[in-house]
Amino acid sequence: MLRAKGLTKRYGGRFALEGVDLRVEQGETVGLIGPNGSGKSTLVRLLCGEEKPDEGRIFLAGRELSAWSPRERAKQMAVLPQEALPPVPFTVEEVVKMGRHPHMRRPWMGREDWNVVEEVLERTGLAPARHRPVNRLSGGERQRVAIAKAMAQEPRLMILDEPTTYLDVRYQLEVLDAVHRWKKQGVAIFMVLHDLNLAAQYCDRLLLLKEGELVGEGRPSEVIRSDLIREVYGVEVLITPHPDSGVPQVLLKAREERGSSPIVRALAMGKNG
Ligand code: ADP
Ligand code: MG
Repeated sequence: MLRAKGLTKRYGGRFALEGVDLRVEQGETVGLIGPNGSGKSTLVRLLCGEEKPDEGRIFLAGRELSAWSPRERAKQMAVLPQEALPPVPFTVEEVVKMGRHPHMRRPWMGREDWNVVEEVLERTGLAPARHRPVNRLSGGERQRVAIAKAMAQEPRLMILDEPTTYLDVRYQLEVLDAVHRWKKQGVAIFMVLHDLNLAAQYCDRLLLLKEGELVGEGRPSEVIRSDLIREVYGVEVLITPHPDSGVPQVLLKAREERGSSPIVRALAMGKNG
């Protein structure tokens, strides 16, 4: 569904991405992990066509990404950027209806469009809130509306940049369960996740970025390894299988020599001084 070869992006001569290859098939969830500044959002911006790579090519459903018209592309692919929904004064229903735009042949909604909107509002539990303005909702609720809008778009590929970062645990699971249901329906999922444990639980395959290069790729058990995590994040971890599913889970080890960290030293000095 999505294929990229040799993606390279520089900002002011510095590599943000270098020689990245990837593919995402239908019915598959691929997760992108890596430290802050490793190039995750840059990769997302290239894959959704927001920016052009300096080198490399991207294919969506077998056709070069740049060859798609915006409208045709939006029928194939929905994107949930990191800042999903600004607090706009539109109602929940109005925002979800916007997801239908790429499918509408006329400026008004057809019966099929209304059916999809109704179904999405029901399935996301947003039907009772349909007339509430989005700018009165909490962050977690707004995230659900953004997801509902993407669902109404009925894409074959969904790209999400850290969809759970600002949500509490309940909403994190709610969002990821919704993503999992899409995948079951054959949608291809590519998502950036901050939380390694959730990434291991919800992704079929993981890509690990370090300073713009892929240094790990494979099933969660092949990527969530203490040696790789140490190399890429510079921390010591314990890896243990999840008691339910057996997927690898990461436990952080507190540093023994706390005094040696420059941040801790600076904090201690601030306290004393
Ligand atoms: P991540 O999402 O993994 O935290 P980013 O893709 O945002 O990382 O950033 C990767 C690197 O590219 C960082 O060093 C960042 O400073 C740099 N970068 C990203 N976008 C720009 C930009 N528009 N201009 C200059 N540098 C950028
Ligand atoms: Mg980012």
